[in-house]
Amino acid sequence: MSNLDVRPTETACHAPEHSGPVAEFLQPREVPLGGIRSMQVKRTLPHRGVPTVGAWCFLDQFGPQRTTMTVLPHPHTGLQTVTWPLQGEIRHRDSVGSDVMVRPGQLNLMTSGPGISHSEVSPPESMLDGLQLWVALPTGSDSVAPAFQQHVDLPGYETRGLRGTVVLGELAGTRSPATTYSPLVGAQLDVDAGAMTTIPLRRDFEHAVLVLGGTLTVAGAPLESGPLLYLGTGRDELPVTSTTGATIFLLGGEPFPDDLVMWWNFVGRSHDDIVTAREEWERDGQHRFGVVAGHGGERIPAPPMPPLRLTPRRRRRPT
Ligand code: MN
Repeated sequence: MSNLDVRPTETACHAPEHSGPVAEFLQPREVPLGGIRSMQVKRTLPHRGVPTVGAWCFLDQFGPQRTTMTVLPHPHTGLQTVTWPLQGEIRHRDSVGSDVMVRPGQLNLMTSGPGISHSEVSPPESMLDGLQLWVALPTGSDSVAPAFQQHVDLPGYETRGLRGTVVLGELAGTRSPATTYSPLVGAQLDVDAGAMTTIPLRRDFEHAVLVLGGTLTVAGAPLESGPLLYLGTGRDELPVTSTTGATIFLLGGEPFPDDLVMWWNFVGRSHDDIVTAREEWERDGQHRFGVVAGHGGERIPAPPMPPLRLTPRRRRRPT
């Protein structure tokens, strides 16, 4: 998916301060994607005050909604896109020659390297639900090549009262085969009705939890669909209880060491990185971003740059 905001606000993210354990609700913003028959998404990252969780720098929850996703070719830089469908299917085509259907239970991981472009189109009027996340590539990833991976066999994770799938990175020794560039975790976990359990965490990671269904308490905080619960660093385990049962997505990682500047579909390190990427996409894009076959030259133009330098915004100190 794309950030289709016609007037995207810039997000410049200073390297995080290590927070220690916190429990902070990051409320979603409703963001329309696309034109007249637009999709609504709930965006919880980047969030004012908490721009990243590990290298996770963008989190959109779309659906469930009956809609037609038509996202024409558009570029990305400096990131991996993680598409985790919960319902429906989407045809993904990209500039490294992929042309695949994206379905629930599959991890679809696209690595931009210095530049990639892709399109995403659903069958007309289909029920769609899922997550789109971005993972920032660390500084020094200039030689990472653009790539697309689809993983249909992801490892299971199970403990008392809870079972799920490790989508990206590693959870308690269970490791996803997907290629990553910084220590992180992304996992979908089903919590049993009546469960009182704990999820083992890495103390040096920061973590956050998003509810995909049901209700539960996480570290004593009641949580339902909507907000992202930011948990900070410094936890060895996460106490979880649920009366009704719940499905959650756990994300975490080593606090990202670099300042990021994010604007539209670009992740960079400076205002000038973004300006250059935008100009190259507008100029014709092919040299840096390749060509997505099958669209007859149709593509999403970049919005105008805002009339100011994209300046860093401080991560809010936890209260
Ligand atoms: Mn995209």
